[in-house]
Amino acid sequence: MVVRRWVAFESLQTTVFWYLTISTRDWYSMRTIEIYDTTLRDGSQGEGVNFSLEDKLSIAKRLDEAGVNFIEGGYPLSNPKDSQFFSRAANLELKNAQLCAFGMTRRRGMEAHLDPGMKALLQAGTPVVTIVGKTSCFHVETVLGVSLEENLDMIRDTVAYLTSEAREVFYDAEHFFDGWKLDSHYSLETLRAAVQGGATRLILCDTNGGTLPTEVATIVAEVTHTLATPLGIHCHNDCDVAVANTLSAISAGCIQAQGTINGIGERCGNADIISIAANLALKIPETMVLAKAHGESGEPWCLPKRTVNLEASHTSQNYHDLCMKPRICHIVLVSHMLGRVLLLIRAECMFTQLPSRPSRMSILLQNWWVILVGCS
Ligand SMILES: [Zn+2]
Repeated sequence: MVVRRWVAFESLQTTVFWYLTISTRDWYSMRTIEIYDTTLRDGSQGEGVNFSLEDKLSIAKRLDEAGVNFIEGGYPLSNPKDSQFFSRAANLELKNAQLCAFGMTRRRGMEAHLDPGMKALLQAGTPVVTIVGKTSCFHVETVLGVSLEENLDMIRDTVAYLTSEAREVFYDAEHFFDGWKLDSHYSLETLRAAVQGGATRLILCDTNGGTLPTEVATIVAEVTHTLATPLGIHCHNDCDVAVANTLSAISAGCIQAQGTINGIGERCGNADIISIAANLALKIPETMVLAKAHGESGEPWCLPKRTVNLEASHTSQNYHDLCMKPRICHIVLVSHMLGRVLLLIRAECMFTQLPSRPSRMSILLQNWWVILVGCS
C-alpha cells in the first residue's frame, strides 16, 4: 500500500510541509490517527505558561497550518480570555483543524440545558465539544460526592444535550486507567453512558500520569474489544512515559492521540504531540504533523529544558557534510526527534549552516521530512 503525503514548504520563518511517499508493510493495516492538540487548554496550565489572547489565536493558526485535526481552544466557562478566544477564532478561517471547546459534565441536580457550563460551551460555537467526566468510582463518590448512578446520568445527559444542539461530542474519561484498576466494570459503564448520549470518541485519560505502557496496552485492548466507539488517548507525563503510553494506546487500538506542543502542561506536562506525530509518521506511517509555533512576542513557548540549539549542538564539519547528503541527513534529524534530544530546532541556525538554503532544503524535503519548531 502506498500512501502519499502532502507537504508544503512555506518559508523559513513559518511552517514546513512536505511530500512523502511511504510504502507500508503488507501486514500493516492503515489507520488514520487523529491528532488532537490541547496546548491552548491543558498546555496553558503548565508552569510559566501564560498565553495572551493574541498568542492563542496565533498558535491556533499555526497548529492549523501544521495540519492537526483538532484544536482544543480552552474552557469557555473558566475565564473571559477563553470565551473571547472562541469568538475571535471564528474568523481564523482554519483550513485543516476543527476547533473544540472543553467543558465538564452538568452540575449535579441540574438539568443540562440550565447549566451555565453548557451555555458557555454552546456559545463558543465550535463544531466539537469535549466533555470531561468522572470515570473512577473513587473520584465519583469521594471527590464529586455523588452516587455512581447519578454520575452516569450526568455524563449521559450532558453528552445528549450537546449532541441535540448539533455538536459532535468527545468524551474525556478522567482518571480512566486508575478507575479501571479499581473497578473496571464501573469505568466501562461511564463510557457506555457517554455512548448512549451520542459521544463519537471516548478519550481514555491517564490523568495522574502514573500508568505504564504495558498496562495502557492491555487496558486499551480490552476496551477496544468491548466497545465499538472509536477511542482516543490523553496522557500526562508524571512517569515520563506519556509519549510511550500514547503510542502504546495507538498500537492497541486508539485512533486519536491527544497532547501538547513540546509536552507543556500542568505538573510534569502532557504527552508531547510533536514526538507522537514524529513516531507515528516515521515508525508507524499513519499520520504526519509538522509544527512550528511561538508566542506573539516572537519568543518560543517551549519548555526551556527542552530547548536545544542545533547550531551549538552540531558545529562539526562532519555534521554539515551529513546535512548535504539527504538520505543520511534524515537519519540524523529523525534520531534527534525520536530521541527527544532536539525538540526545538532553530531553523535559522540550521539554514545558515547550509550553503544554499532553497536548493539544499528542497533536497531534504524530497527525501524525507523535518519537523521544525522555532521562533521567527
Ligand atoms: Zn489533561
